[in-house]
Formats: sequence, C-alpha cells, structure tokens
Amino acid sequence: MRRLIVGNWKMHGTGAALGEIVAVAKYVAEEAPPCDVFVCPPFTLIARATRATGGSITIGGQDCHREPSGAFTGDVSAEMLADAGARAVIVGHSERRSLHGETDLDAAMKTSAAWRAGLFAILCIGETQAERDAGQAVDIVAGQLDASLPLGANPNTTAIAYEPVWAIGTGRTPKAEEITAIHALIRERLTERLGEGGSQLRILYGGSVKPANAGSILNLPNVNGALVGGASLKAEEFVSIIRAALPSN
Ligand code: PEP
Repeated sequence: MRRLIVGNWKMHGTGAALGEIVAVAKYVAEEAPPCDVFVCPPFTLIARATRATGGSITIGGQDCHREPSGAFTGDVSAEMLADAGARAVIVGHSERRSLHGETDLDAAMKTSAAWRAGLFAILCIGETQAERDAGQAVDIVAGQLDASLPLGANPNTTAIAYEPVWAIGTGRTPKAEEITAIHALIRERLTERLGEGGSQLRILYGGSVKPANAGSILNLPNVNGALVGGASLKAEEFVSIIRAALPSN
C-alpha cells in the first residue's frame, strides 16, 4: 500500500512561508518518492500553494463546513476549498473538537461534505490523556470511528488519522505496542464495515512525528502514513519524514 504523508500547518504561515511548500513539491517532483504527499496550509495559502506547486503534491484544507454555502460567517465550504485548488481536507482534528466543540456527528457531516465536493477526507480520531489513563482508549477510538465515518467510505476518498490528543504538539508519542494495538483495532473495524475496501483504506498515525521517530513509527503494522504538525513547517524536516516512508525504511 502506498503510504500517505500529510502536513498540517495549523494556523501558521503567510505568503513568506510558501517557499517551504515549494521546496517539498520540488523534492517530490524530482525524487518521486513512493508515497503520496499532502500539505494542508491555512485557507489563505491554498490557492497560492496550488499554483506554486503545479500538482506534484496535493494541497488540502484543515477544516470545511458541512454545507456548500449559506449564512455561516467565517466558515469555508468544501466546494470553496476545491474551487481554490484543494484536493483534500482534514476533518475532525482534535483541535476542532476541543476548541470549537465539534462532535463525531460534525466530523461525519464534514467528511460527507468533502466527498460531495470531490475532496479526499483525512478523518482524525484519538483519545485524550484522561481517557487513556482511565483505560478507555480502545472504546473511545472505536466509538469515534463508528460515529465519525459515514457510510460509503473507500480508500480513494478517505484516510483515517489516529492522533492521541496527548501526543499532539507535546513531543510525546505512544509506545510502539500502543500504536500497533489501536491501528489493529481500526483496521479490524474498517474491514468489518467496508470489506475489501477497509483493508486498503490508509490509517495514518499523528502526534509528535519527527524525522528521528518517523522510520520506526511508519514501519509498525497497519501504519500506512503520518499526519505531521510542527515538523511539516520546515521543508527539510518534512522531507526527512517523507524519506522515512520509502520501502527501504
Ligand atoms: C497535528 O497537528 O495533527 C499533529 C500531529 O501535530 P504535531 O505533529 O505537532 O504533534
């Protein structure tokens, strides 16, 4: 399965940072690594990043509204992202869930909106520290997956990102066996729900992925890629992570 490496720039970057995305695109165009590479900058950079990278990498959004248009001040629809040149969108990120009160139902509706607009959806799920400490990680992740993934998912339209909330931006990562256990659970449920499609749908790990740990994380079973925050902001670091997705690693 071709791995997928996604950079999530969060609320970082103005036009001055476009060169970093261009450098990643140049690496991908020249070296043709055997993985898919997405960069999801802020809304304001999507059109410029699309123009500047010329299709060698996929540019995505970090969120979208469930409706195509309407009286939703400040929101951006999946159709608008597509119009700006995006081909993918992150939905249900834990920062949207915790800071904007988004629920599993919101994530499901946004995933459907992404598909409606022809965007690839990267659906995020993951437990908090308190939930893990209480021994609930498996139940929380299973519940989020069941409630956030609409009917009709397939490997060409969707990837799941397992992101333990306590690992995001903290420099802490789960133990290898913890990642393996949750990814196996997600795979099992995807296969139960989607059959063959569920065995091919990519499951990404996210949470403090860096050049130093990317190789070992990406080699774990059922880890089919990574969702990378902080380490995607600088082309050099992000390219090191992309290199770790090569088969030789
Ligand atoms: C993220 O933003 O989804 C993320 C995983 O961030 P970081 O890599 O900085 O932990």
